[in-house]
Amino acid sequence: MTSFPVKRPLALDLTAAQFAALPRGRHAIAYRDLFSPHADLPTATRRWAEEQGFDLRALTLRSRERGARSQKVLFALRDGVAVESVLIRRHDGYTACISSQVGCAFACRFCASGQAGLKRNLSAGEIVEQVVRLGPRVNRIVFMGIGEPLNNYENVLKAIRILRDRQGMDFPSSGITLSTIGIPKGLKALREEHLAINLTISLHATTDESRAALIPGSRKHGVAEVVARALSWAERHNRDVTFVYLVLPGINDSRADLERLVAMFSGQRARINLMRWNPVAGIRLGRTEDRVLALFRERLVRAGIPVVVRDTQGRDISAACGQLWLRDLNGRALAA
Ligand code: SF4
Repeated sequence: MTSFPVKRPLALDLTAAQFAALPRGRHAIAYRDLFSPHADLPTATRRWAEEQGFDLRALTLRSRERGARSQKVLFALRDGVAVESVLIRRHDGYTACISSQVGCAFACRFCASGQAGLKRNLSAGEIVEQVVRLGPRVNRIVFMGIGEPLNNYENVLKAIRILRDRQGMDFPSSGITLSTIGIPKGLKALREEHLAINLTISLHATTDESRAALIPGSRKHGVAEVVARALSWAERHNRDVTFVYLVLPGINDSRADLERLVAMFSGQRARINLMRWNPVAGIRLGRTEDRVLALFRERLVRAGIPVVVRDTQGRDISAACGQLWLRDLNGRALAA
């Protein structure tokens, strides 16, 4: 059995206030020095960490797979588990798609990440470090990697605060998107946070039955409650909320589904992203036809609901939405 060295606290878990409250030692650095993207951290930073008893980094790069417009990176953590993050090139910068948990408890039928269950939450620092390690060109962050961010609420919110802190990375809130299946309790709490981030809800169904079949872990949360909580967030923050609808042939692509979408979102602060399923080995679902997507799109446009058909990047390296597996340190996919 592999044994792992005893961990010291992670410096990236510190908020600016916690950093400022540390006892003064012989070695002083600024808070922003903790977030250097360079692999070799300056001597002053390493001396400070030694004196204060912190680890500066928790992630070790295990492998990097390059696709046409994206890179998938496997990071080992200090206790022998691993997570994947994805760097996506856009015309105006780079997006970091980051993980919030090691595995996922929700076992969505269309997604690789939940197939081996939840191993543990990532700490705030482990979440922040993914962004740091993906490099200084990152100007958007999406919580769309492995894990359900609202199921690790405290650490995800702390990570967002650390990322936004002016004394540290100073990452703009408008560039951060939290993507969730929509846990009502988490959405209720998020509504009260003063964070100008973007919110995306993976809805994927218009009835409780079809949602429970697609997202077994959310069986207790009805569609109406999830939608109401998300729209309440939108109202409170005076911004639109995006609902993602993965159109799956024979499951949620009927005329009745379409009319229920129209009824739910007409006149609301909502946008809809229609998506095709990205194939995952061992999961038998179909990819919808263009004409069905066009039909959905046209009807939603006619109802005055902002809608786009989204194709995610990274399919060439199995790094698109729903294609990230929980992996061991050698990169082998773990399934239940
Ligand atoms: S879609 Fe999200 S919530 Fe569902 S299994 Fe995948 S990571 Fe978990």
